[in-house]
Amino acid sequence: MTQPRLTLNDGRSIPQLGFGLWQVPADQTARVVQDGLAAGYRLVDGAAIYGNEAGLGDGLRQAALPRDQVFVTTKVWNDRQGTGETRSAVEESLARIGLDAVDLMLIHWPCPAQDRYLDTWKTLIDLRAEGRVNSIGVSNFGVAELERIIGETGVVPVVNQIELHPRLQQSALRAFHAAHGIVTQSWTPLGQGKSFTAAPVADAAARTGKSPAQVILRWHLQLGCSVIPRSTRAAGLAENLNLFDFTLTDAEMAAIATLDAGERTGPDPAVFS
Ligand code: NAD
Repeated sequence: MTQPRLTLNDGRSIPQLGFGLWQVPADQTARVVQDGLAAGYRLVDGAAIYGNEAGLGDGLRQAALPRDQVFVTTKVWNDRQGTGETRSAVEESLARIGLDAVDLMLIHWPCPAQDRYLDTWKTLIDLRAEGRVNSIGVSNFGVAELERIIGETGVVPVVNQIELHPRLQQSALRAFHAAHGIVTQSWTPLGQGKSFTAAPVADAAARTGKSPAQVILRWHLQLGCSVIPRSTRAAGLAENLNLFDFTLTDAEMAAIATLDAGERTGPDPAVFS
């Protein structure tokens, strides 16, 4: 199956749909990556802090797809921010995964209190020029941090990966991204299942014959976001990929929009470090 792709502001592109590896046990990661790639995913979302980059690399090698057909993301953890630390953190991630370059390197959290994200961003700009990462982006950044790194360097992140689901729709941040050519990528896209039985989701599921999870993932795609659900089960991975034979109506999209409650499942990025 051909996956839809989103164009990045550096001229590259990213599959719109992928799968994530948070909380995937290290000893299952190679199998999950293989299952995901066999099912048809072409975007894998990892991070140093997930402790499973070696398994990610093993899964890639076992799947044996041409390198340019798989998009690999990983992230710099909070205690590795700053010029020298970031450089070694990226090299360590590349060594663990076993790649010469990853497709996308993200700053995992801005951690504004430690005030090292600007130096971290400048280091990623250098590493991109050196060919160690193809594209660079951020995660959990707010408008203030985005404006600062863009203003200081002139380099716009290709992606901001943020918590986004029906109960936290992030309209203001999505509008900022749209105005600056930044792809919004949704983490915890299923929102811990809290909207599965809400009428707008349940009604759309009943009409389309799809599961509530599929309706919500389709909603992300129709918002224009990239989305990276997680499942360790092959059947779950396949279910979450099966989103391209139905469409939510404008009325269904509008009904789901009413579920926004500004409710996070994770930490507030403005204070998290
Ligand atoms: P998710 O929304 O993908 O939900 C995962 C949970 O939903 C699991 O318990 C899974 O078993 C269940 N699930 C998956 N498919 C289902 C289905 N079809 N029906 C019912 N239940 C289903 O949450 P997540 O893992 O928190 O987020 C996805 C990915 O986002 C992560 O794996 C990670 O790669 C990334 N992430 C990034 C950050 C960040 O700070 N950048 C934070 C959290 C997650």
